[in-house]
Amino acid sequence: MDFLFSHLNIPKSATIEDLTNNLKKYCTESDIETVRLAYDFAATAHSGQFRKSGEPYIIHPLIAAFILSQIQAEPNIIIATLMHDVPEDTSVTLEEIEKNFGPDIANMINGITKLGKLKYRGMERYIENLRKLFVAMAEDIRVMIIKFADRIHNLSTLDSLPEKKRQRIALESMEIYAPIANRLGMGEFKSLLEDLSFKHLEPKEYTRVKKMREEKVAETNIYLKKIMDKLQTESTNAEVSFVNIHGREKSLYSLYKKLIRKNWDINNVYDIVAVRIIVKDVGDCYTTLGIIHRLWPPLKGRIKDYIAQPKPNGYQCLHTTVFCDDGKIVEFQIRTKAMHEEAEYGATVGHWNYDKSGHGQSKKDYNWAKELAKMQKEILNNLKDLEEMKVDFFRNHIFVFTPKGDVIDLPEDATPIDFAYHIHTEVGNKCNGAKINDQMVSLDSVLKSGDVVDIITDKNRKGPSQDWLKFVKTHAAKSHIKSALNTSKISWIKDLFDKKSS
Ligand code: MN
Repeated sequence: MDFLFSHLNIPKSATIEDLTNNLKKYCTESDIETVRLAYDFAATAHSGQFRKSGEPYIIHPLIAAFILSQIQAEPNIIIATLMHDVPEDTSVTLEEIEKNFGPDIANMINGITKLGKLKYRGMERYIENLRKLFVAMAEDIRVMIIKFADRIHNLSTLDSLPEKKRQRIALESMEIYAPIANRLGMGEFKSLLEDLSFKHLEPKEYTRVKKMREEKVAETNIYLKKIMDKLQTESTNAEVSFVNIHGREKSLYSLYKKLIRKNWDINNVYDIVAVRIIVKDVGDCYTTLGIIHRLWPPLKGRIKDYIAQPKPNGYQCLHTTVFCDDGKIVEFQIRTKAMHEEAEYGATVGHWNYDKSGHGQSKKDYNWAKELAKMQKEILNNLKDLEEMKVDFFRNHIFVFTPKGDVIDLPEDATPIDFAYHIHTEVGNKCNGAKINDQMVSLDSVLKSGDVVDIITDKNRKGPSQDWLKFVKTHAAKSHIKSALNTSKISWIKDLFDKKSS
């Protein structure tokens, strides 16, 4: 799978043929046929719609799908990506998609539509939103992968949008999506999201850092080529064969952050271009480290064994920085192919990346539960210091959305009334009806994670109904209803007395 050794290509334009050419490398003929149908379906639905850039709208989902075809995402992900904006932006409904393409694809698209409704609303809600978003999307991680491709393409075409919208999308990507990509251990997505956002958030700094990196790359290119050749020869002599060896440029945003830490002294940043070596197993990793250290003396305190001690997001690799030929300082990164794929595209790569031999099998075989448990544990560990959290936070909770995209967490089996009181006491007291996902429902309906809940209030309503106490789940709703009922009882009795005395 040597596709993983090159960076993702985000083309300016693409055709369905470009997409299917990529798919031919790993998909069956019948899968590709469904991809074509999905493309036609989406193109028809979006016909007459144009991007701000002036191009037909379909170019956006097509390029997003093209991006994911490069990492050999399974056909259903590609199909869902092609249609990801259909329910939101066209008159074609999710039901029609489900009828034509089945529930698995419809569910993914539903997830994307919901994620789109979740808006970044400033730093104070950042941690809270991040955590909730994590849970909401963890139901199906494929949704997040589609969202990354969607975002990456949108970010790469931001220029045609008005300044304010550009800033919001860039900030949202930087503050929410990039950290999630990082948390999922998807290094390539994280770097792309960061660098594309950085360009719009700090244009001057972006240009400055880009220029610095270009100069450094130009300066060291020939030198590094020689170093790599030398190492290649030595390893062949030692009977270690490299799967791949290449120069890895540090991403602009992480270089920027490092330059700030180093007072902009570029000579103190040793990994602007690192030499990355991919080998076949862990044994070869250490052998290669030995070969490097025999050739060139390592800098003190710069050997990092992330294989024995992986980073919290699962990152595994050996890093060492050495005094190379002519006293130049060079960083080497050594990892196995599996470690490399995980580092660039996530630990779940094996789950959503398509396995031809598993063709025709139910996609329910995904081991999400285990991955999810791991992620949640890790998120809890990371957030422990930032806020007080109950250990059972994720258990017995559902996450629903306001029509504006805010996430509200409620206990399992909560109803629209619980939701209304969670928003505001008066919204609860004046609640006269509710819509779930645009459908009118009864007030005792049970909410499910991902539902968009819209409360209809009536300002003339006297107060809550006694009956509500029979089905509400939250303590807050119960106590508000009781106190409102008591107040109205008191005022009713008062009214009665007032009338009698008059
Ligand atoms: Mn989109």
